[in-house]
Amino acid sequence: MFQPLPQYPDHVALEEEILAWWDAEGVFDRLRERNRGGPRFSFMDGPITANNPMAAHHCWGRTLKDVFQRYKAVRGFDQRYQNGFDCQGLWVEVGVERDLGLNSKREIEEYGLAEFAERCKQRVAEYAEVITQQSRRLGMWMDWDNDYYTHSDTNIEYIWRFLKECHERGWLYKGHRSVEWCPRCGTSLSQHELINSYAELTHPSLYVRFPLKGRKGESLVVWTTTPWTLPANVAAAVKPDAEYGVTEGGDWWAVERNPDATFVRRVRGDELVGLEYEGPFDSLPAQQGVVHPVIPWDDVALTEGTGIVHIAPGCGAEDFELSRVHDLPVLMPINEAGRFYEPYGEFEGRSTEDVEDPIVVELERRNLLFEAGSIIHRYPICWRCATPLVFRIADDWMIRADEIRQPMLDANATVEWTPDFYSKRMDDWLRNMGDWNISRRRYFGLPLPFYPCASCGQLTVVGSLEELRERATGGLEQLKELHRPWIDEVPIRCDCGAELRRVPEVGDAWLDAGIVPFSTLGWQNPEWKPRGYATGAAAGVTNADLPDHGYWEKWYPADWVSEMREQIRLWFYSQSFMSVTLTGRSPYRSVLTYEKLLDEHGREMHRSWGNAIDAAEALQNIGADVIRFMFCEHVPSQNLKFGYGPAEEIKRRLLTFWNSVKFFVDYANVAGFRPGPEAPGELQPLDVWLLERTEQLVAELTEAYERYWTPAVMRSFDVFVDDLSNWYIRRSRRRFWNGDEVALWTLWHALVRSFQTVSPVMPFLAEFLWRRLRAEDAPESVFLAPWPETRDRDESLLEEVAEVRRVVELGRQARGDAGIKLRQPLRRLFVYGAVHVPRHVEELKDELRVKDVEFHERPRVRFNYKPNLPVLGPRLGSALREVQRALAERNFESLPDGRLRAAGHDLDPVDDLIIERADEPGWVHDGTLSVGIDSELDDELRLEGRVLDLIHQLNTMRKDAGLALTDRIRVTLPQSYADLLRHVDWIKEEVLAIEVATDSVAEPEIAKVE
Ligand SMILES: [Zn+2]
Ligand SMILES: [Zn+2]
Repeated sequence: MFQPLPQYPDHVALEEEILAWWDAEGVFDRLRERNRGGPRFSFMDGPITANNPMAAHHCWGRTLKDVFQRYKAVRGFDQRYQNGFDCQGLWVEVGVERDLGLNSKREIEEYGLAEFAERCKQRVAEYAEVITQQSRRLGMWMDWDNDYYTHSDTNIEYIWRFLKECHERGWLYKGHRSVEWCPRCGTSLSQHELINSYAELTHPSLYVRFPLKGRKGESLVVWTTTPWTLPANVAAAVKPDAEYGVTEGGDWWAVERNPDATFVRRVRGDELVGLEYEGPFDSLPAQQGVVHPVIPWDDVALTEGTGIVHIAPGCGAEDFELSRVHDLPVLMPINEAGRFYEPYGEFEGRSTEDVEDPIVVELERRNLLFEAGSIIHRYPICWRCATPLVFRIADDWMIRADEIRQPMLDANATVEWTPDFYSKRMDDWLRNMGDWNISRRRYFGLPLPFYPCASCGQLTVVGSLEELRERATGGLEQLKELHRPWIDEVPIRCDCGAELRRVPEVGDAWLDAGIVPFSTLGWQNPEWKPRGYATGAAAGVTNADLPDHGYWEKWYPADWVSEMREQIRLWFYSQSFMSVTLTGRSPYRSVLTYEKLLDEHGREMHRSWGNAIDAAEALQNIGADVIRFMFCEHVPSQNLKFGYGPAEEIKRRLLTFWNSVKFFVDYANVAGFRPGPEAPGELQPLDVWLLERTEQLVAELTEAYERYWTPAVMRSFDVFVDDLSNWYIRRSRRRFWNGDEVALWTLWHALVRSFQTVSPVMPFLAEFLWRRLRAEDAPESVFLAPWPETRDRDESLLEEVAEVRRVVELGRQARGDAGIKLRQPLRRLFVYGAVHVPRHVEELKDELRVKDVEFHERPRVRFNYKPNLPVLGPRLGSALREVQRALAERNFESLPDGRLRAAGHDLDPVDDLIIERADEPGWVHDGTLSVGIDSELDDELRLEGRVLDLIHQLNTMRKDAGLALTDRIRVTLPQSYADLLRHVDWIKEEVLAIEVATDSVAEPEIAKVE
């Protein structure tokens, strides 16, 4: 007896049941044990930031990671299953700042760096736990007690080694440059943090006059959208070869930028070069002694502004470059918090936004404002806190990228990307990458191990904790972990004897994630250290070991990694940068990447828009299998619309599968069927087909998993479910009613194989159904059963039935087009161009309710011919109408040379005619197949149609009355149904009636026979 299935699956309940059972039985541990020592599949997890509960989009990547690890596990591969948490940097710091209500770096420092670091660690531990629970609920099998945490000392030490290597190669330098800066976070951002981090913002749009010295009444007109930069202006740039003109009012413009103006004099730009002007804020202390020249600049754009550009080298990257060329002073007006320094008079202490109004008022007062308006434009914002960025001159630590660029491109050429065009995206990023800005002026992050010496000028880069201990001049006793503030209390000795302090900066978080192929696998570590990874801040939150170098040799590089596409410029990049530097090789052999998750209407999800769905909510409402189904079905190179609507649609589709299983269970129980290894009798042709079809499913799914392509898995599964339910079961109903053991066995076999092959995608449903249907001697878990072997299939049989199914489908369409319901029998079906179906006449008759099928080998192709008017009009003149009519009536003959003769005119089919495929009522075409019906009805057909309606009605009544499949009934019909009794035996058989009679009832009635 199989345990009966409910009418509908309760996904959430059955998933929780399976999770508990997996835990109780240690299924995952048993699987790992079974695979130990087997062939290796090395997966490297990209760390998830332990800073918030999971959102729906995290489930996408985690589903894909689990699907392929599960598949490989069932296939016997030994795997590591190490999950990773990202634990340092701005994400975590800003989260803690919010919790504590801190709003600036000053407030963090007042709060205390030690306490702040503790709070960051607490937050990481808290959310690592939440993420772990949510991931388990999603069905993710990982080695949850041995996660890596990027704030561990081990991870930090490995980055130190990498940085020391960069220093030894001469790649490390301190750049004095103009950088994009977040005034709220108080730090610069690097190139990879800027992409996609833009917002549409409204800013002032000012046209400002710079009065020329020695040219009374004449001014340069410049345009700016950042008024706050005007107090730092030192020059104005013109395009040397462009034409400039001065208006009657004395305003200078590029002629091209003001075509409506009347210019009283015109000169080339280079004639303006060297003139001097009065700066807009010359009275500020910061501007004392600054001369304002007009300088040449070939890159002045003539597509916006006035063609005269205001230059403030302290407030822009290009401006800063120009200051070097023309030896201009660099005035840096704002501090780390984006507020004006003291020598800026009334602006001191105010933000860039706060000074906008006073600047406009002041310019207006002095008649320097030509025009003021506003502009909406794309403007960079901080990826973490959404504050608009400003430019500042900063001293940042950089790693030179020039030398590593080509080796990284070479390494990328060895990587197999899925979908493959992402390989080119990676190449593009690498070709354009600038030097890596690795320093952040923050607190809870990787402490950069840089110790500059003021006496001898040498920079010492400490490469390990051991080296730090050797060089330390004190402070080791309080060094509980390699984080601020503790690390800052350990000075070291320079080779020259001076005592050195660490620079205050911490590192870019992508260093933390990029090093994990080394830190977690024990690269160059001489001896395995139990719990040796779980050091510093990670001590106590994980048991991860630090393996030895032999282990690294085994597991590096990763066979496969999978993350979102944006990781091309983040983790895929930083990992590759560090790996190619340390080993000359790519850290991964293949990559699966995917796009963005949107809401079901195609909008980005944002908590503040109220359309975000977090993982916990989705798992509780939709269930893990349906979520996984949705992600797996989706083509990963397109954005995915996620929501409850699409989830309901998937549940509806899964119901067909569920119903097939339930159908089997119900009839198998009636028949007392027990599955054995072989079919319990001779297979019928349809059974043979289903067994071949099942082989095909196994082969297709195996192939799709092997190439990391879940959309193909889901498509094949979908088609199989349709074949199973709408062909095999439909066509074999009668055999199931009769308890045919061979049909039951065949269906059982197909179902069990489908559970096995879809189990990586829907582990819960597959396990649940496997446990209901498995043979007694089969493993208890679908994941402990071996993956089905593939064998050669009878392709011609598969093609044959596929063709039959196509003809049936077209036949249904033809009936639908003619408005004739399927229960109405018809005289004849016409089939043109089918190869195999003549052997399946009986099935076609039955499926399409026709008495007869007429076959024609060649495709039925009918065309409509129309005159090509521009050609034939002039040639035929008034005879055109006659030719047109002949063609429409198909009154023409085909000539041996391929031309047509109509109304006495010979017509060339290419030049003279327009040929279209004819659309005929009652006919449907699909490639070479054409199917049509004879839609004429006679009395006999009509009577049979009524009988079929009655059968349908009686069976619905049986179901509504809750009768068991085997219950017999008596049927009473109204007198008006008497003529149907000509088919009484047919009716009896179809509705399991022992008697059908007429009486004075208004509607058909049934009664169960006790
Ligand atoms: Zn910020
Ligand atoms: Zn020194």
